[in-house]
Amino acid sequence: MKKLWHWNERTRLVLTLELAVVLPAAALIIFSVRHLRSIQRDRQLEAAIQRDFYQVLVIADKHMSEKAYEIVDQVRHEFPVSGGACPESLDRLLERYPYAAHLFLYNPNRGTIFRSQRARLHEPDFCAESAELEKMTAGEMKADYDWLVKKFQELNSKGKTPMFCEPHLVHRGDRHGYESIAYFRLPQAPEEPEEKTTVGGMIFDAEYLRDRLFPEMLSSLISRNLAETPSDKNSHTHAVMMLHIRGESYPLAKSVDWDGGAPEVERNLEGAFSGLTLAIKLQGTTLASLGQHFVHTSFLVLGGLSLFLAGGILLTYRNVMKEMALARLKSDFVSNVSHELRTPLSLIRLYAETLEMGRLSSREKYQEYYAIIRKESERLTALINNILDFSRIEAGKKEYDFRETDIGELAHNTLESYRYQIEQHGFTFQEEIPDDLPRIRIDREAIARSLLNLVNNALKYSPNEKYVGVKLYRDNGSVKLEVIDHGIGIPPGEQQKIFEKFYRVGNPLVHNTKGSGLGLSLVRHIVRAHGGEVSVESAPGHGSKFIIALPVNAGASGDGAPA
Ligand code: ADP
Repeated sequence: MKKLWHWNERTRLVLTLELAVVLPAAALIIFSVRHLRSIQRDRQLEAAIQRDFYQVLVIADKHMSEKAYEIVDQVRHEFPVSGGACPESLDRLLERYPYAAHLFLYNPNRGTIFRSQRARLHEPDFCAESAELEKMTAGEMKADYDWLVKKFQELNSKGKTPMFCEPHLVHRGDRHGYESIAYFRLPQAPEEPEEKTTVGGMIFDAEYLRDRLFPEMLSSLISRNLAETPSDKNSHTHAVMMLHIRGESYPLAKSVDWDGGAPEVERNLEGAFSGLTLAIKLQGTTLASLGQHFVHTSFLVLGGLSLFLAGGILLTYRNVMKEMALARLKSDFVSNVSHELRTPLSLIRLYAETLEMGRLSSREKYQEYYAIIRKESERLTALINNILDFSRIEAGKKEYDFRETDIGELAHNTLESYRYQIEQHGFTFQEEIPDDLPRIRIDREAIARSLLNLVNNALKYSPNEKYVGVKLYRDNGSVKLEVIDHGIGIPPGEQQKIFEKFYRVGNPLVHNTKGSGLGLSLVRHIVRAHGGEVSVESAPGHGSKFIIALPVNAGASGDGAPA
């Protein structure tokens, strides 16, 4: 026979505490520590990205300037030397270099030559721009000539000849176009060594910058950046760039993936393209929204864990309450049992002493006293059996001895030995046990004790209408045993609780009746060990019906019982 696996209160409490409080608390602590670390890491990451972006912009500025210097240098080398310069030679140069919108040169002795792309002069915006720039250049060249020559001397010693000055904004519909102006010193004509320095100039074409040079440069910068940070290649977010005129927000040029939105870092360009601002950001998101997303997830996880913890605390609170109630019931139980033990013991002593004195008048009196002593000791035995059974169950040591049994005969014999007592208490007793009940595997003693507990309760809780009925019948796959009384009944709210250990209904009548609160919990344990179930149907003031249902193959597993 197997011992019952025992799930005691302590194990349950420790498990609840671990599962409901310790686990979520530990999870909360671990998460918080990781969270703090990741916040720290995220801040560092954010700062690192910002630094990285700034670095990219500095390099971009440098590269763009270098490209501009390269282009201007190319044009400069083909510029006609001062003496041979004529409008036609500049026109020819313009034809070769379409990214130059205007070219000019100035010599204090020869004046200014200013030429624009002939093919574009029919465009009203371009034509107006050409006229305006021609006038401006003539004036500025005269005024700034000495300053420019001095600057060239300085720059030449550093190896850089072209010089970019204030850019020029031109009208393009309702927007501005950007043109960068480069100045350079032209070589001296060998035949005129005394000739004053000639200054040449090139004005970049606004459309070329906007539609070709800038987008190409931005895209090549982005691909360079991606190549330098290979880990970002597979990620969906990578850097994108945009260039805008300082003070204006709409992009003048952008890299292919630019998706709008606020840039993370901006830099005002300083080299060839001063007056422009280069902006960089992450595609599809911002560092702030990445942080926001992180905060949201953290809140969700923290919220979930807190709920988990609150649930755990609630569960523990309920368990503690349950334990407290149980402790109260246990102390009631001790006083009930002491009372139950004391009464039969004092009766037995009293009657035994009287018998001992031998003063009784008749033989019937002797018989009566012997019967009382027997009955009281039987009650004592039943009570002690219940307590022993209970303690075995609590300790997980209760064992059952299942045997093929004629349950009808078992019930009948059990009731027979009790019949006299029932009828002596003035009860009407009805027994309905058919002959054709199937034999089932049960523990005889345990089932008999359950039946007696139920009959005993029927007697105890029927102060007025004294009736006890016992019925046995087959119902589908089970044999049912009913114990019916017409006693005080049980309120619906208490009908489940009465099967819990130590529980007694809080009714003055029950309180004045002797009892330990163990009987029904034992019945339920025994019945469940047989794979059956015990239930009650009751109406206060009208009586109760306790039904034990035992499966026909009860205990068929043979040797043990489920807990
Ligand atoms: P005890 O009878 O020793 O108190 P039980 O576990 O047998 O303990 O019963 C638990 C409680 O169920 C009883 O205290 C009583 O309140 C209620 N009870 C049990 N049987 C009946 C019944 N036949 N009629 C009314 N109340 C009952």
